[in-house]
Amino acid sequence: MRRSGWWAACAVWVAAAAAGAQEQDFSKVELKTTELGAGVAMLEGVGGFAGGNVAVCFGADGPVIVDDQFVPMVPKIEAAVRALQDAPIRFVINTHFHGDHVGGNEPMRGAGAVIFAHENVRKRMSIDQFSKIMNRSVPAAPAAALPVVTFTDGITLNWNGETIRVEHVAPAHTDGDSQIWFEKANAVHMGDTFVNGFYPFIDIESGGTVGGFIDSANRVLARANQKTKIIPGHGPLATPGDLAHFRDMVVDVKSRVEKGIASGKTMEQFIASKPLADLEKEWGDGFMKTDQLISLVWMSLKAR
Ligand SMILES: [Zn+2]
Repeated sequence: MRRSGWWAACAVWVAAAAAGAQEQDFSKVELKTTELGAGVAMLEGVGGFAGGNVAVCFGADGPVIVDDQFVPMVPKIEAAVRALQDAPIRFVINTHFHGDHVGGNEPMRGAGAVIFAHENVRKRMSIDQFSKIMNRSVPAAPAAALPVVTFTDGITLNWNGETIRVEHVAPAHTDGDSQIWFEKANAVHMGDTFVNGFYPFIDIESGGTVGGFIDSANRVLARANQKTKIIPGHGPLATPGDLAHFRDMVVDVKSRVEKGIASGKTMEQFIASKPLADLEKEWGDGFMKTDQLISLVWMSLKAR
């Protein structure tokens, strides 16, 4: 149910943050809260597609969240946060610019939250985006939805007794990806540099690269220990083992496509040879279908 929900509604990203969200029915979507300890929690959609997973950090100074889904989800996010701490949301951190992660920015700002993101998130949200691959356009976001504080490499929030490290990573899903570490809680939100249980979506038109997924997974694994709680952009809460399993799949796919390119086949011939047939069952029922993944990896490697 969740998977097909994600598939159906990730088209919402494609269709456009704001416009698509208006058309989708969020009335049956609920948020499930999982407390990760030390004042950090994960919110994930159940009963339908809610958008990306949300992290919440709460405590003496007030709630901070990572990502804010869509406008219709904002009252549900606020209610879930209020159940953890009855205080207004002070900061929102965006992991990247896609509409299912930044869609709630405008009402969040309106309610007094300050929004943080990598400078490319603000840049891409500020202009009309057109995806040739998806044949869809996403209009520029209104000024009131844009991040207020932008950074290049990263920024640290010392808040709620927690050290929140927001770190820009090399282009993976897009060229504006951040991973957010909650050091005391030993938890990290990886945005869409990690989707748990699915093929990655490499948004090559927004600067994404296949190699970046491997690097960003390795970057987290190098710092993680057995107890690290990993919040993926989509899918259930993960362990370092789950992330390593995802990373290994991406390494495998990349090497198969590299061999395909080296063999002299055209991309179409390579896709027709069903080179990922054995992976499809485990990974191919999310947003990315096998053939789409192959073509994105192929184009990502060709663009180097
Ligand atoms: Zn995304």
